[in-house]
Amino acid sequence: MAKKQIVILGAGYGGLRTLRNLQKAKPDAEITIINKNDYHYEATWLHEVAAGTIEANDACFPIKDQVKGATKFIQDAVIKVNKEDKTVELEQHGLISYDYLVFALGFESESFGTPGVDEHTLPIADIPSTKRIREHIETKFSQWKTTQNDELLTIVVGGAGFTGFEFLGELTNRIPYLVKQYDVPREKIRIICIEAAPSVLPMFTKDLANYAISRLEDRGVEFKIGHPIKEATADSVIYADGEERKEIKCGTFIWGAGVRGSGVVGASGFEERRGRVMVNANLTVPGNEDIIMIGDCSAVMDTANNRPYPTTAQIAIQQADYAAANIIALLNDQPLKDFVYKPKGTVCSLGDNDAMGLVGDKALKGYRASVLKKVIDDRSIAMLGGVSTMLKKGKFQFYK
Ligand code: FAD
Ligand code: NAD
Repeated sequence: MAKKQIVILGAGYGGLRTLRNLQKAKPDAEITIINKNDYHYEATWLHEVAAGTIEANDACFPIKDQVKGATKFIQDAVIKVNKEDKTVELEQHGLISYDYLVFALGFESESFGTPGVDEHTLPIADIPSTKRIREHIETKFSQWKTTQNDELLTIVVGGAGFTGFEFLGELTNRIPYLVKQYDVPREKIRIICIEAAPSVLPMFTKDLANYAISRLEDRGVEFKIGHPIKEATADSVIYADGEERKEIKCGTFIWGAGVRGSGVVGASGFEERRGRVMVNANLTVPGNEDIIMIGDCSAVMDTANNRPYPTTAQIAIQQADYAAANIIALLNDQPLKDFVYKPKGTVCSLGDNDAMGLVGDKALKGYRASVLKKVIDDRSIAMLGGVSTMLKKGKFQFYK
């Protein structure tokens, strides 16, 4: 009898961790993993690539090194899943059949239909988009010398969520190097973060959120909180100030104001909200129990507040452990396990040696929090790529 086909879409946190677990379990089935690049990237480090405090290569490792034995890796872009035919449509390779599918295609930037955002802002979404941000800022700074146009030195960040804060932390670390490299006066550089909500980082205590704001303000960031961005133009941001619309001219406009699940979710006709499918407790898709959906494309209800958990790598990795176990259960006709999320704490980086976060109800700030963040980063890369990858790519310099 032909072997069952397990197909994993996406080699991010959810997909690669599922692959690792399945390869360890050695099921009597063929495994194929499909990803559009030949590398995995640590999405949780993308703000560092964007600011230029690490190189893109530092955040990436080859997928082929993780593919063991009979597992097949296909480098291609997924267009859609045909649920009824149990096939996946790929850009180059045509149709691939599956018996069981793990859908882990991650996130995309969300503009919420804000005019001009798709055309004129730079999202922090993947490796090419973050390389573009670094290059864009460098180009604008290099143009200042000949034009003396100070607007080129204004950088606007839309959204003061985790991504906004973490990017600002890295950017403020990078500014002294850019000042030297492009010979621009520090006092002419403006970094402005515009947030729609009346307060920031609601998951933390007021004290921690204020710590994050004041640390970045000390490094020259101007916050405009409670001011929804209304429009992006080729050279400005337009935001609401009460009833008024105000404009700030800028050379760079980075969009960190939200994410959605992969567009492949909608293209495949899943019932979704912003690219996320409300999955069953065991992570299968309602009505398509041969598909397990994890990571940023999935929504799992947090019964404590009746809202889906936020999309994080932490959840994607934990879901992957259940995904692999449940695929094995499906193969063996055994009952599936319900996913139970175990929050391990949350740390928000504020640059190289600064961070803040909550582990249980313990608040951490400053250098100690930044060390914890690096430990979390290294643990995560080890869980996906093994200890040898962590030793090559990890955050502690003495490894390198
Ligand atoms: P991803 O990690 O996004 O992986 C998806 C994979 O699918 C990628 O390899 C992608 O190339 C591939 N892919 C996408 N579309 C296609 C296609 N059509 N065809 C083929 N392949 C495709 N979370 C935390 O828990 N802690 C943090 O500190 C943290 N920091 C973050 C910092 C930043 C700047 C950002 C943007 C996010 C951060 N997150 C953090 C959130 C975290 O990165 C995501 O929740 C996580 O990446 C989701 O994992 P995933 O497996 O669903 O998808
Ligand atoms: P987010 O949705 O968490 O934050 C976006 C912010 O932009 C919000 O504060 C929102 O109010 C604001 N915003 C939305 N529309 C706006 C507008 N028109 N004008 C101004 N502000 C606007 O998105 P994110 O920060 O990209 O995070 C995405 C996911 O990744 C989240 O689930 C987050 O938890 C996770 N993440 C985690 C970490 C970490 O754990 N260290 C780091 C980065 C991201």
